[in-house]
Amino acid sequence: MGLFDRIKKAFSAEPEKETPVEQDQAIPETPVESDATPVESQTPAETAAAEKTETDEPASLATEDDSETVSPLDTPTAAPVNSEPEPEPEPEPEPEPEPEPEPEPEPVEASAVTEESDAIEEVPETEAVTGDMQAAETKKYDDGLEKSRLTFGQRLNALFANFRSVDEAFFDDVEEMLIEADVGYETAMKIADELRDEVKLRNVKKPEAVSQAIVEKLVDLYGQEGQAEDNQLHFAPQGELTVFLFVGVNGAGKTTSIGKFAHQLEKAGKKVLLAAGDTFRAGAIEQLQEWGRRDNVPVVASAAGSDPASVVYDAVKRAKEEQFDILLVDTAGRLQNNVNLMKELEKVKRIITREVPAAPQEVLLVLDATTGQNALVQAKQFKQTTDVTGIVLTKLDGSAKGGIVLAVRTELHLPVKMVGLGEQMNDLQLFDPNRFVYGLFKDIIVGDGPQSDVDTDVSQAIK
Ligand code: GDP
Repeated sequence: MGLFDRIKKAFSAEPEKETPVEQDQAIPETPVESDATPVESQTPAETAAAEKTETDEPASLATEDDSETVSPLDTPTAAPVNSEPEPEPEPEPEPEPEPEPEPEPEPVEASAVTEESDAIEEVPETEAVTGDMQAAETKKYDDGLEKSRLTFGQRLNALFANFRSVDEAFFDDVEEMLIEADVGYETAMKIADELRDEVKLRNVKKPEAVSQAIVEKLVDLYGQEGQAEDNQLHFAPQGELTVFLFVGVNGAGKTTSIGKFAHQLEKAGKKVLLAAGDTFRAGAIEQLQEWGRRDNVPVVASAAGSDPASVVYDAVKRAKEEQFDILLVDTAGRLQNNVNLMKELEKVKRIITREVPAAPQEVLLVLDATTGQNALVQAKQFKQTTDVTGIVLTKLDGSAKGGIVLAVRTELHLPVKMVGLGEQMNDLQLFDPNRFVYGLFKDIIVGDGPQSDVDTDVSQAIK
């Protein structure tokens, strides 16, 4: 079964035992893999409490003063998905008065839950609660990808507005439409070619069927290309220091992503240290220090213009001496073609590895989704000079270019590991390929009734 059908099934009303994400995600190959388990020490109540306190903060420092805005997306999540300890297969209907799925009266959330509760009527109660959490996370993806989805839908509509017949000119238009939708040139060509064959084979003529076939092919190609992809974040074994290095051009969202990530790690009970390795951009050090204050996390910094390698050395030393769990390193926004800056990045990385041989566990390239194909070009160049282990794709909420995720996978073969879906702290989410694809094409794939049991809350990646 192709990814398209698996997603369709997973996101339709019938809850599936076997989740499509499990099928789609990479098989762990290193021992560190096993680290991507939920935080054991966190009870559902703690999770909910932690989430409750944090949810109201917008992530942007610029809007700090408005920090009381409550996002309807930030419904407290319950326990990790796989943690239901229920010994009994069937919960008694009597002793537990069925809690209404809308303990909080946020209007947007309520509608999503209502739709969903219809769909999962007969599911046992614990699953229904998990379903609420899944619905909230699916909604984050849905909302974050709204712009991209609408734009893609409009492009498809425009494609079919002048539709007369499925001929060569039409296939040219399909190619053009897909390129404009940022799915990547190679992907666009491949889809158009496959569509040609399929249309002949199945004698497809109706616009709806052609449009369905386009999306089906996009999704299936995405699934095929992702079979060996590892979307998990890797952490050192418990008790050892994990180091994540954030790289990317200025303005991509490195500092903000570090700030959001540190916040979520700290809430999950981790001892987090930040290193202000961007000594180049004016204000970058202060920006990270401000995040440190907000997150209640220390920051190792030096004067502007100083050697980033020495800042990073100090940070690693302190992290080891004071037994921090995780060190997040900011770096100067470099142009990927600037040889000196790239060398400097290598030096920073060497120092980390010299002090902690297994580190950095991740070198995360932060890309701004709003820049579309430029982000792809940047990534290609970064990949040539740096051992990037994954992508953090930011600003998807402000972008109509979500299709870039398909291009990143099919052309770059770099796994997207986290996505920025909004301004709130918790809008930095772990990447769930199926939620993403569903969010991008859901109007075309199937109606409502989201079901995906992957918890994309960042804390779920942490041991
Ligand atoms: P850096 O130069 O790579 O460190 O970039 P910054 O972290 O300073 O981010 C640049 C701008 O992008 C800031 O105004 C951030 O608030 C904004 N930003 C970063 N990530 C996101 C996101 O996921 N969504 C939105 N809407 N804005 C973001």
